[in-house]
Amino acid sequence: MSTRSAYARQEPAESSGTALTDGIHLVVDALKANEIKTIYGLVGIPITDLARTAQTSGIRYIGFRHEASAGNAAAAAGFLTQRPGVCLTTSGPGFLNGLPALANATTNCFPMIQLSGSSDRSVVDLQRGDYQDLDQLNAARPFVKAAYRIGQVSDIGVGVARAIRTAISGRPGGVYLDIPAAVLGQTLETSAALDSIWRLVDPAPRQLPATDAVERALDALSQAQRPLIVLGKGAAYARAEDEIRRFVEATGIPFLPMSMAKGLLPDSHPQSVAAARSLAISRADVVLLVGARLNWLLGHGESPQWSADAKFIQVDIAPSEFDSNRPIMAPLTGDIGSVMSAMVGGLTAHTTVAPASWTTWSAELAARKARNDATMRSRLAEDPRPMRFYNALAAIRTVLQRNQDVYVVNEGANALDLARNVIDMELPRHRLDTGTWGVMGIGMGYSVAAAVETGRPVVAIEGDSAFGFSGMEIETICRYRLPVTVVILNNGGVYRGDEVTTAENTAAPGGSDPAPTVLNSQARHELIAEAFGGKGYHVTTPSELTAALTEAIASNGPAIIDCELDPAAGQESGHLASRNVTSALTASSPPVSAAG
Ligand code: ADP
Repeated sequence: MSTRSAYARQEPAESSGTALTDGIHLVVDALKANEIKTIYGLVGIPITDLARTAQTSGIRYIGFRHEASAGNAAAAAGFLTQRPGVCLTTSGPGFLNGLPALANATTNCFPMIQLSGSSDRSVVDLQRGDYQDLDQLNAARPFVKAAYRIGQVSDIGVGVARAIRTAISGRPGGVYLDIPAAVLGQTLETSAALDSIWRLVDPAPRQLPATDAVERALDALSQAQRPLIVLGKGAAYARAEDEIRRFVEATGIPFLPMSMAKGLLPDSHPQSVAAARSLAISRADVVLLVGARLNWLLGHGESPQWSADAKFIQVDIAPSEFDSNRPIMAPLTGDIGSVMSAMVGGLTAHTTVAPASWTTWSAELAARKARNDATMRSRLAEDPRPMRFYNALAAIRTVLQRNQDVYVVNEGANALDLARNVIDMELPRHRLDTGTWGVMGIGMGYSVAAAVETGRPVVAIEGDSAFGFSGMEIETICRYRLPVTVVILNNGGVYRGDEVTTAENTAAPGGSDPAPTVLNSQARHELIAEAFGGKGYHVTTPSELTAALTEAIASNGPAIIDCELDPAAGQESGHLASRNVTSALTASSPPVSAAG
């Protein structure tokens, strides 16, 4: 079935008088017909006119300085809107620059489409050497949910429809859509073009769980002594907070949010055990995973983090996720909203769900929460000079508590690990961070998307190293006058900035170079914002930080706050120190060549 769309432009062919359209217009019309409202991209051959046409046709085009950030913005837009975020890239290197973001979107289960121009197939396939030639379709394939190429102008409608359907139905993910330059330039009679576009009906259909699967899950929970619900970013994406809240509150089961699920139910909710995470994980005997995978972020569900005999129930739209790490005693396939409302519905028949023994468990967790909260409060009250992470974050926390609708973007090592614990979230989908891969470089792209898609203020809490990966996008943020405040926790290094060069002979080549983890602790990042017309602040105390952040959020415009920290603050690899490989050889061991 096809739905006719209005055409922005029809070109009568001079000889015949037949109205024609072309591939560029058809792509734009197909996207518009499917409610794609924004394209994030970077122009160049052969897609510059596509961006122009999109803009004049009413699709918002946001142009970046590097494709990785455009891709990250599209991925975040997908997470925030449940529609695929679209990233537009040029052929060859432009495509490759965008690809890591598409791979990251796939890993995070965010719906995204990378739409890329590409070179002449006949030249690429014979490796005759075209401008920016690359077999993009096959290069993309290992990193995405699906990769499609449109081979002729009349297939643009089906190609766009297929990309959208694949990106958002089932487990969301990244789709690569290749459109060779020749196809963008091909013409087609307008009447045929109209018929080649269609609008998707119910692009992400609800998936209801089987009744016996719900029964099994409720039975399993009713046998628990120490149940726990783990909420993941899949639940945040699914917008299932109402159903989840009903289940959580009806059963009284404590819940633990994964980092991007913070705020799905407020962190201040009495049943949140975020502040007693280790105890909750190590003692839980039946665990209900809701849109969270038992991957490395959850220690694969294994001992010693978890109790060796913990049992798992899992809600996921992708059944292949079950049993990926631990046996799933009650798998629940379906979309989270449908599953959790079926679970609420099933509760009336299960009077045993919410047994009295859970009160003891809840009390045990509450006591640990109170103890950990007290430790956190005293840490936040410390006031060392120069500032360190905790007292800087205490200032940010105070300001954000007064501005709960601010979107928080967070990346870095210590800046990520500590901010995640210190900054509470009260609203769903208001925290975006490094996600499943723990990848650096998402900061500015995610910030742009959060501002563009929601219109609300954004605060990016960045390590100085992490900021560097996408820092040039400050220009993008300033160009579009977006309400983004970037707080750079600047300790002058990757992890920290006080490592000294260990080369014994400082006269040797590189002997006087900075150590590998060292950046510039004197850097004045706020000047970058000023260079592009944004506001810059340099702060050295928590009260200066509080004042600057309050003013920057209220200004509703772009700003950088360079927050000078002690270069000795921070720990190597943040909370992931145990994953590091430390050289077995001491610094004084002879080099391999000499020893051999
Ligand atoms: P976290 O990192 O927060 O633990 P993950 O990204 O590991 O979360 O897990 C998200 C899970 O949610 C994925 O397994 C994905 O298949 C699932 N998911 C995503 N959207 C939905 C949905 N609408 N309904 C059910 N499951 C979903």
